[in-house]
Amino acid sequence: MAGVVVKPRARIYHGHEWVYASEIKKVFGDPSPGDVVSLKDFKDRPLGSGIYNPHSQIVVRRFSRQRQALDADFFRRRLERALDYRQTLALDPAALRLVWSESDGLPGVIVDRYGDHLVVQTLTLAMDQRKDALVEALRDVCEPKSIVERNDSPIRTAEGMELVKGVLWGDQPSPFTLEIDGLRHQIDVLEGQKTGLYLDQLANHQAVAAMAKGKRVLDVFSHHGGFALAAKKAGAARVEAIEISESAVAAACANADRNGLEVEFTVANAFDALRQRESEKATYDLIVLDPPSFTRNKGGLAGALRGYKEIHLRAMKLLEKGGVLATFTCSHHVDGKVFQEMIAGAAVDAKKTLRRIATYSQRADHPVIATLPETEYLRGAAYETMGGW
Ligand code: SAH
Repeated sequence: MAGVVVKPRARIYHGHEWVYASEIKKVFGDPSPGDVVSLKDFKDRPLGSGIYNPHSQIVVRRFSRQRQALDADFFRRRLERALDYRQTLALDPAALRLVWSESDGLPGVIVDRYGDHLVVQTLTLAMDQRKDALVEALRDVCEPKSIVERNDSPIRTAEGMELVKGVLWGDQPSPFTLEIDGLRHQIDVLEGQKTGLYLDQLANHQAVAAMAKGKRVLDVFSHHGGFALAAKKAGAARVEAIEISESAVAAACANADRNGLEVEFTVANAFDALRQRESEKATYDLIVLDPPSFTRNKGGLAGALRGYKEIHLRAMKLLEKGGVLATFTCSHHVDGKVFQEMIAGAAVDAKKTLRRIATYSQRADHPVIATLPETEYLRGAAYETMGGW
């Protein structure tokens, strides 16, 4: 079997599962891109099995500490384990991330379930080459009505793959309605942003909505109105929402209608919309900020932080005394410390004292692996502004 010898001091000796080009001492047996390789340490001791792609920055991703083939049986075992874990979670099973890449021992594989339909992403070359085995295992274990691939994520280009989407098995599902946590959502698994919804935020919609009763709420970066609708349902006095994507706002309005909830959606750039509300001297009791990841890499962090700080500063100025800011970041590069410092910086400029009253993370169907910091990417917190302090 072809393999890779890893240099001393590489991340894999500290529990990580990735091997970068600079950490490779030797490649032997002439593996092809997408092959399974055996990993060895610099003293020729086995480290397990990994998937190989010399065209990616991450040349090897270990998926097992043993010698292991990537076949339908293996996929079945990993899937069953992923499902077992999710059965222990108190989450609405209607919409669930069933498989989340390294966190479920399948690097590059993401599987979301919306009702009876599965949405698959294969973001690493090796997994993409084995899509048939994966589909076979998914049919056996999950018995879905359809399996769709949403391989249109730009992450695929890092592995030298094309962007594609389409039906892998079953009939093409047309957009449908799904009730999740008591709210009816429109799901379009083929055309929606992401695979349909931001599953990672569903639990946070509920947590933030619990503070919304009787409040004037502003949901910024609203997408399909997840926070806005949950807040209105929880008894908010008035809810406004801002989102730049017209198609997302159309879906959000349709969601509001089918739930009989009144929300004022505006298609706008959040930076402009916040500035405009400031000039109109608008005020709110609860503001949600859930921006997209302003950076995909470390190099863009400084610019991203300027953007984050600007929207936080503006939101803080719009808050009534005692008002609450619930804010999120979905960039792995913005870690807890950086996030908190950015918020503190905005609070200083806004001349506000903020008390942190809650912290949030990605929903539990996106589990974090202790030795893989990249698996933790969504952070959030709620801050109360201290009036008359
Ligand atoms: N809050 C949503 C998820 C938001 S994801 C939920 O919980 O489901 C981030 C959203 O911000 C995306 O829908 C994206 O279209 C939108 N967006 C990106 N840039 C924006 C901008 N400058 N102004 C307003 N919305 C923006």
